[in-house]
Amino acid sequence: VYDWLIKGGTVVSGSGSRIADVGIVADRIVEVAPSLSRGDATSVVDAGGRLVLPGLIDSHNHPYYYDDLESFSYAAAHGGVTTLMSFAGRPLNSPVTDVIDMVDEFIRDGEQRSYLDFGLHVILTPADDPLDVLAPLLDRGVTSFKIFFAFHRQKRMFADDMALGLMQAIARVGGLCMVHCENGLAIELLEDQMRSAGRVSVSDYVASRPPQLEGEAVYRALSLAEVAGCDCYVVHVSTAESVDIVRQFRQRGGPARYAETCPHYLLLEDHDQIRIGGRAKISPPMRTATDRDGLWQGVLDDGIDIVASDCSGQTCVAKHHGEPNIFDVASGIPGVEQFFPLIFNEGVHRRSVPVEMLVKRVCERPAEIFDLPRKGRIAVGMDADVAIFDPAQEWTVRAADQHGNSDYSLYEGSRVRGRALWTMQRGRVVLDDGAVVGPAGGGRYIPRSVRGDASTSSN
Ligand SMILES: [Zn+2]
Repeated sequence: VYDWLIKGGTVVSGSGSRIADVGIVADRIVEVAPSLSRGDATSVVDAGGRLVLPGLIDSHNHPYYYDDLESFSYAAAHGGVTTLMSFAGRPLNSPVTDVIDMVDEFIRDGEQRSYLDFGLHVILTPADDPLDVLAPLLDRGVTSFKIFFAFHRQKRMFADDMALGLMQAIARVGGLCMVHCENGLAIELLEDQMRSAGRVSVSDYVASRPPQLEGEAVYRALSLAEVAGCDCYVVHVSTAESVDIVRQFRQRGGPARYAETCPHYLLLEDHDQIRIGGRAKISPPMRTATDRDGLWQGVLDDGIDIVASDCSGQTCVAKHHGEPNIFDVASGIPGVEQFFPLIFNEGVHRRSVPVEMLVKRVCERPAEIFDLPRKGRIAVGMDADVAIFDPAQEWTVRAADQHGNSDYSLYEGSRVRGRALWTMQRGRVVLDDGAVVGPAGGGRYIPRSVRGDASTSSN
């Protein structure tokens, strides 16, 4: 007898789709087969004509600006997401100084108030004494650590020697180093030159972060990681060249190299950024049509492993919309709620990308790369994390309809085909007929084990 039976939908994995029924007992999937009997189920969900996807995983987000995990997970749940891999990092100028205290607080708070299961990445800064914090973070189930090659030498930016030392330490414990790849010193020079010339428009901002300074930093990050023998994950790749560099490194063997991109690089271009203005400020900036096509090619051929929102729940006020100097506008954009429907609409409907490739990028690869062994697939023994998605339903993006604390969208007014209707996490319904039925605090923290060591996994 099943507690839940999801009947007649198209069950999608990264390698194929088939019409099948999914039987669930308690928090697990216990059967996936062509025709399970209704009579054996307490509750039946009819998924005919719909896609039955593994619960979506957003691998990169920052729920600590104008959202906390409660409001952020509530918004994400409306888009079909069931698991968040969130950064527990804090904004610049935060009074919290100790990274371990910050992580403990984040976990405690999230377990009480998150709607969705969540795991954590941590941003390390040169001030954190990174070599001292790795062991206590691993004890807390954090195994992925992000550093910046950009954002000012006295603040977040890691110099090459510090980055190499940290990568050696991460490699020793079997962790993953995530790197924001832009050449921060060169960008500082260009920014200073533009500021002093009074060139402070959005197009000047785009010009201050040229694609060459991303490609150079990707090459440098992967070179340092190779010397250290450290697995490396390049966050928010925005250019075709960056994908090529990742492919090139993979061909020579050595540690793992992963690449991520985001909806805004797959859907928008530099002219969109200039049209939308300061509210679209993000780094790296949006690029050209050629880059966008190159990123989609990466989604198709494994050049890109993961697509993730990089959502940071900004608000118009926080972005100082109308601020005359773009260099003084905060970076970061909202979007977790529309993240999957947008890439579905653009990929599947406009570019004929098979939905299986999106399931690979948003479910399977995230579960593999971030050690979530019970997530990412619809198969016997997995957590009953399921998203029923209507590939045809049309709707319009309106910031006024959003559920988190963000009050704008880069996609305002866009028509989208495809919408999450119903989701379940570990056997409990989270989204029902497009509305989140909760509860807050129903999500659990997922401590992760170091990569390749499944024996201590406690997901
Ligand atoms: Zn980010």
